[in-house]
Amino acid sequence: MNNKRWDVLYINATAVTCAGDAQSAYGIIENAAIGILDGKICWLGPEATLPNLPALLSDHIIDAEGRCITPGLIDCHTHLVYAGNRSHEFEMRLKGATYEEIAKAGGGIRSTVSATRAASEDELFEQSLKRAKALVANGVTTIEIKSGYGLNLETELKILRVAKKIGETLRITIVPTFLGAHTVPEEFHGRADDYIHYVIEEMLPRVAEENLAKRVDVFCEKIAFSLAQTEKVFAAAQKYNLAITCHAEQLSDSGSAALSAKYNAQSVDHLEFLSKKSVAALAQSGSVAVLLPGAFYFLREKQLPSVDLLREHKIPIAIATDCNPGTSPTTSLTIMMNMACTLFRLTPEEALLGVTRHAAKALGLLQTHGTLELGKKADIALWDIKHPAELAYQIGGNTCMGVSTFLTN
Ligand SMILES: [Zn+2]
Repeated sequence: MNNKRWDVLYINATAVTCAGDAQSAYGIIENAAIGILDGKICWLGPEATLPNLPALLSDHIIDAEGRCITPGLIDCHTHLVYAGNRSHEFEMRLKGATYEEIAKAGGGIRSTVSATRAASEDELFEQSLKRAKALVANGVTTIEIKSGYGLNLETELKILRVAKKIGETLRITIVPTFLGAHTVPEEFHGRADDYIHYVIEEMLPRVAEENLAKRVDVFCEKIAFSLAQTEKVFAAAQKYNLAITCHAEQLSDSGSAALSAKYNAQSVDHLEFLSKKSVAALAQSGSVAVLLPGAFYFLREKQLPSVDLLREHKIPIAIATDCNPGTSPTTSLTIMMNMACTLFRLTPEEALLGVTRHAAKALGLLQTHGTLELGKKADIALWDIKHPAELAYQIGGNTCMGVSTFLTN
């Protein structure tokens, strides 16, 4: 107990701590009070056990009127810094255009790369900030942001600087990830090995030197980079003490999850084609499995990620938007929770843990984020709901009444 008066005191809340045990992972405290001091949770428990009258504890009391308070949500996989959009391509496809016709018309990832290269840093910031604001309005207080639509040194650095500025502007936690190895850019067509060399020798050292990323990601897939190329990038990332994550087993079983496990990846993401052998490797490495139902839905995929296999091996499952213009143009993490339940058959409780506790672990932030617990950062979301299952139950709409982030640095 601190004698100093608390900055904020929430009362009459249904606190969904997400810090419960296996029996009740929601960790609900009814009629709860939450005290905030210096940006951290300094008191948490049933209101009846507060050490004093609320008015004597804080000048700033918020009555939740029985509504749910959860940890601020964490979107642990996004590509939200990009310019333009691909609605035209979406429309062409639905009018019957083939992939080749769209590519010839300048569509696909190349169009996003061209638009992102052409945008000034300010334009890129303005366009991306809107998406980040939409996530925050839907309860998100931590966003992972990947580069990967620049594919040259100048633009990759620009994207990562924009990501940092978004965090400063919205006073939220941003985890920047360098995804230079997203796809082979046009100027390296047919020379993927040369491009990987450029990523490792030219881009990565600058990203590390300017401290613009905390993690390194690779899109390991037939249409992107091979296992051998992926491993080269991971080995280089380790030299710079950057954490590792991977776009793995989305369209085929390439062995990328097992490779990521070998490099102690924080997370492996997508995983529709995860094999039994790879899941055992993940269990050993402690990596989080990040499922991305938005891309699964948008691409009308058929191969479901094996949630049973992940449960069996006790691999923590996180859910994210994968916010990107090509395969998951969404800024609603709660709709992703719904899709994770309807498409992948997660329970609403698993879906909530997937955007709080397990998403924090996926970003290496579990010590400070992802649950309502004493001493953790006071990232809080207040919802106009009485039970947390409502978060995954509803399709669209927005019940978030606001978030508190109490930036401490
Ligand atoms: Zn992605």
